[in-house]
Amino acid sequence: MRQPLVAGNWKMNGSREAVTELLDGILAEVGQVKTAEVAVCPPFVYIPQAQERLTGSAVAWGGQDLSVQASGAYTGEVAGPMLADFGCKYVIVGHSERRTYHGESDELVAQKFQAARRAGLVPIFCIGETLDEREAGATESVVARQVDALIQLGGVGLLGEGVIAYEPVWAIGTGRTATPAQAQEVHGFIRSRVAQQSAEVAAGIRILYGGSMKPDNAAELIAQPDIDGGLIGGASLKAGDFLGICRAAD
Ligand code: PEP
Repeated sequence: MRQPLVAGNWKMNGSREAVTELLDGILAEVGQVKTAEVAVCPPFVYIPQAQERLTGSAVAWGGQDLSVQASGAYTGEVAGPMLADFGCKYVIVGHSERRTYHGESDELVAQKFQAARRAGLVPIFCIGETLDEREAGATESVVARQVDALIQLGGVGLLGEGVIAYEPVWAIGTGRTATPAQAQEVHGFIRSRVAQQSAEVAAGIRILYGGSMKPDNAAELIAQPDIDGGLIGGASLKAGDFLGICRAAD
């Protein structure tokens, strides 16, 4: 049995006050979530605030990105050991916004995954196709290429130490969700791709769906056999919506 995970990606949103309100709103009702694991990924500067409020609670926290380096002259970067130092369990790697706006390649993302593991963090490894790629019938080849880059660098055993998030780029922040059948088709493909290397890793790895997941579509998506939770953007900024998705994952 794979424990569902619902992780909130807050992106570049928040203020000290808004973070307090959001965390308190989540903490007030997270007790109603019975089986799903819950995590939030605030912007770096709010991670200490998350640690302070969430320590001892059922909610884990993580970063949205990390450097491939552990320390040194890399202005503006944040290293995995720094995230671990502030109690992070997770770190998102390869989010499509980083791939698009920061030119992150499959190889760099794979290196970030490896750097996360070196720091003891669990990477949430984002993959997914653009609309053009889907319309060109390239969805499977794109996600296969992204997964294979990681396996080539670190082996399937390394992949098994993380979580995959399938996020069709055309569904992120657009309000256009993949149908449960569309999502399941790709999740099933990803799992079978991993199974070519290791049946054990394929059976154990959690594959989250991300892309305009909301309380009213979450249950049907997460009910699919190969969907093990969600990576949530917009809806993770409202405690009620985020918790609605967490309950749907139960
Ligand atoms: C995301 O950015 O990971 C995401 C899934 O965003 P949204 O839920 O807003 O589509």
